[in-house]
Amino acid sequence: MIVKPKVRGFICTTAHPDGCKAIVKSQIDYVKSQPHAEGFKKVLVIGSSMGYGLASRITAAYSFGAATLGVIFDKPANGSRTASAGWYNTAAFEEFAHADGLYAKTVNGDAYSKEIKDKVIDIIKKDIGKVDMVVYSLAAPRRTMPDGTVYSSVLKTVGEAYTNKTIDLKNNTVSDITVEPASEDEITATIKVMGGEDWQDWINALKAADAIEENAVTVAYSYIGPEITHPMYADGSIGKAKDHLFETAKAITNANNGIKAYISVNKALVTQSSAAIPIVPLYISILYKVMKEQGVHEGCIEQMCRLFNTKLTKNNAQTDEPCRIRMDDWEMGESVQNAVNKLWSEISGDNLDTHADLDGYHEDFYRLFGFNADGIDYDIDVDIDRNIENV
Ligand code: NAD
Repeated sequence: MIVKPKVRGFICTTAHPDGCKAIVKSQIDYVKSQPHAEGFKKVLVIGSSMGYGLASRITAAYSFGAATLGVIFDKPANGSRTASAGWYNTAAFEEFAHADGLYAKTVNGDAYSKEIKDKVIDIIKKDIGKVDMVVYSLAAPRRTMPDGTVYSSVLKTVGEAYTNKTIDLKNNTVSDITVEPASEDEITATIKVMGGEDWQDWINALKAADAIEENAVTVAYSYIGPEITHPMYADGSIGKAKDHLFETAKAITNANNGIKAYISVNKALVTQSSAAIPIVPLYISILYKVMKEQGVHEGCIEQMCRLFNTKLTKNNAQTDEPCRIRMDDWEMGESVQNAVNKLWSEISGDNLDTHADLDGYHEDFYRLFGFNADGIDYDIDVDIDRNIENV
């Protein structure tokens, strides 16, 4: 099949298998080229097929030679429908890892469910005994509870409505958008989906099954960002869920069973989930421009490689005062934020070319789905069926 991008709203409904493979390969090559600290050796990554989770898995495998077990929620190809990008990324990662003699297995299904937790724990016990690191990198729109109740997360403010600039990426126009406040029920639901309850459930289940080392480390990801995004993010419904995630980290560590839990506050980047947040894509386009100009731009793989090789290693965790790892240190640096603020106050539909890196935003968006990869001919037929072993 000849596979072209079909974008609907914030997602692309097609993905290119060879493009995804080339992009996974370029991330592996990046990690191989970097210095390696002493890291974790048996790593479970929950949400390992895209974005920060995929980059965490690649870093663990190629910085430390770690055995990795991934949990994904993806779809294989079906007839003329391509597989999801996460499926192709995982198939490619496993192919490279196996060729390089690394243990890599993946479980495809709903990470929130008991069934998937049991399946993962069985594999750990059979194949690697215990894990020494758990990365929790889910970004999900909804969570189904054991009794069938479904909670959906929302990206709204808390308290008052908030108006600021946003970009329509279909036609690159800037306009004002007003984001309405979430109801109490919506806030509760967002915390259920994106807060720490399920992370805690995973750690409890691993501990109860004796499938996690006594000195294991677990990390989940969060975002803070500058003030212009606070009503939408840090102080919004998703921020309430992230507060809960942070409290969960403390609770896991305070359980005093040797397991240490951390929140890593990561940089704003184009991923499937961030593309859906109002206001944030315009901020990211400006941020990309500034960080590229100042020579401090990073993608997911650079962030995760720096995290696991410098700030969260086997013997060391560098945290700020409330005990968070700050991978957003370069994003939040004064010279970056001053430049972003100036451009934000001036930006309009007339000066997008000079004030934002829209090409960089679009390029990264298409790359999420395997398009825009170097060396791939998108006009030739490609086999869209790819296998993930044991899935
Ligand atoms: P992403 O959309 O790129 O990846 C999310 C992953 O979760 C995918 O692999 C997806 O398959 C998996 N997933 C979703 N629902 C699942 C389910 N029910 N069961 C199993 N797997 C499931 O997201 P991302 O941007 O990499 O986000 C990961 C984490 O990083 C989130 O906590 C997010 O808030 C945080 N974060 C993101 C940014 C950013 O700018 N993108 C910045 C800081 C922190």
